[in-house]
Amino acid sequence: MSTDAVVVGSGPNGLVAAILLAQAGREVVLLEAADQFGGGLRSAELTLPGRVHDMGATVMAMALASPAFRELGISGFDPKEPGSKEPGRRGTDLSGAEVGAVEFAHPEVVAAHPLDDRPAVLVHRDAPRTAAGLGRDAAVWQATVGAAARAGLPLVDLMLKPLGPWEPRPRAFAQAARFGVAAALPVTTLARRAFRTVEGRAVLAGMAAHSMLDLRAPITSGYGLLLGALAHLVGWPVVKGGSQVLADALVARFRALGGEAVSGHRVRHLRELDAETVVLDVTPRQFLAMADLPAGYRRGLERYRYGPGVFKLDWALDGPVPWRDPAVAAASTVHLGGTLEEIALSEAEMARGRHSPRPYVLLVQPYAADDSRGGHTLWAYCHVPNGSRVDMTDAIEGQIERFAPGFRDRVLARHAMGPAELEAGNPNLVGGDIGGGLASLGQFVRRPVWSAAPWRTPLPGVFLCSSATPPGAAVHGMGGWQAARLALSR
Ligand SMILES: Cc1cc2nc3c(=O)[nH]c(=O)nc-3n(C[C@H](O)[C@H](O)[C@H](O)COP(=O)(O)OP(=O)(O)OC[C@H]3O[C@@H](n4cnc5c(N)ncnc54)[C@H](O)[C@@H]3O)c2cc1C
Repeated sequence: MSTDAVVVGSGPNGLVAAILLAQAGREVVLLEAADQFGGGLRSAELTLPGRVHDMGATVMAMALASPAFRELGISGFDPKEPGSKEPGRRGTDLSGAEVGAVEFAHPEVVAAHPLDDRPAVLVHRDAPRTAAGLGRDAAVWQATVGAAARAGLPLVDLMLKPLGPWEPRPRAFAQAARFGVAAALPVTTLARRAFRTVEGRAVLAGMAAHSMLDLRAPITSGYGLLLGALAHLVGWPVVKGGSQVLADALVARFRALGGEAVSGHRVRHLRELDAETVVLDVTPRQFLAMADLPAGYRRGLERYRYGPGVFKLDWALDGPVPWRDPAVAAASTVHLGGTLEEIALSEAEMARGRHSPRPYVLLVQPYAADDSRGGHTLWAYCHVPNGSRVDMTDAIEGQIERFAPGFRDRVLARHAMGPAELEAGNPNLVGGDIGGGLASLGQFVRRPVWSAAPWRTPLPGVFLCSSATPPGAAVHGMGGWQAARLALSR
């Protein structure tokens, strides 16, 4: 096939790249290995007929804040600055309330963090309300997470475009510099030095543990603070009807621009492709297998490190999770694992290649925001060593039972995916790593190699755009945005 551009892989990064290239008038073909488009945005009936489960991402905080999605003008993506007098385009605002091709549904509570012997910590859209629930840590929450939220989307833009290009916004740079000092710290350090309550320390650890890093590692605070800031800035919504709705909207936009999208087509080698521009939504290991690369670059890719894997469970329930603290029911995202010390221990064990019997569990109950998924569906995962074959079902369900006694009685059906099953469904999830590579300080910018434009490869016209490029994991499409921008500037 001969065309101007081929995009390999239809995750959010591939889809954004394909749309931008088509928008610029290029003839574009998008090739996806799976039968369904979307990569980490796919949804399927994993348990019972009519039950919609997200196979990957559900929480769309990054998507809603992403410059790439905001620029595409997909209906529903139009967060305006907090405090802005400007009404959002098409009637949307930071609540993402617009109904169009994509509708975001916000839970009443952004996230909850249950604790054994006291009420759960609740993260609200409103920073002062969240802070008020943290007692003696109210002021420090406002001075850290609250300050990052008040800095607004310009600060988020800097985080999502770590290598630029930046607009000259001195205020945002100053705020980023201030944020950077705290963000660089291990979260165990920030939590112990700045926070004084069990609640404050635990909730920060729960946020930071999304990074899949040992919580004693540098920049884990940054992940926690950024996610906390997004909770206040844009919320952590879910896509009404399942994340596939967003993937389908992006594919529809691409096709409306004249693009050709083909599923069930796995590209095995670049020599199969006849195009001036090739954008690859794949990670280094796959790229190494599909291209003849110069030795230096090849060695750089071989040094790239993958992160831990996950073990994911999906359930169909006959009713909501019976949380001991009923306030947890209002949150879509729940962090399970107890105190900072417990979460830090479980993540440290995992980083050492062990399986914690009481793991940190990230649980998403989309029904708290969205009643259109065929009933009470739920997913949760814990981090495991890369490539692990250990069945973590009992450990995960044990952690849920700890905070929601009687949970197992609600289960109608369950579906488990360990690292091998995850990778079989999406080759980008190497060893079950859902982040496309370790999210360490070194690999924040050396992603996948040290370069001012790491989306470019030594092969003329060939670009990488997956979450193995900056800014890394999550549904934001920024890898695709950067790769397409470079391709179009040639
Ligand atoms: C269980 C899970 C939960 C998650 N939760 C969240 C969340 O709540 N919020 C969030 O923001 N992020 C979440 N993420 C992360 C998010 O899904 C990813 O960071 C994001 O999807 C990465 O996008 P991508 O375009 O780089 O790659 P992917 O979305 O992984 O897509 C890559 C695509 O390329 C295709 N492909 C690969 N190789 C080939 C080939 N050779 N030929 C053709 N096609 C190929 C794959 O089949 C796949 O469709 C989660 C991920 C998982 C797995």
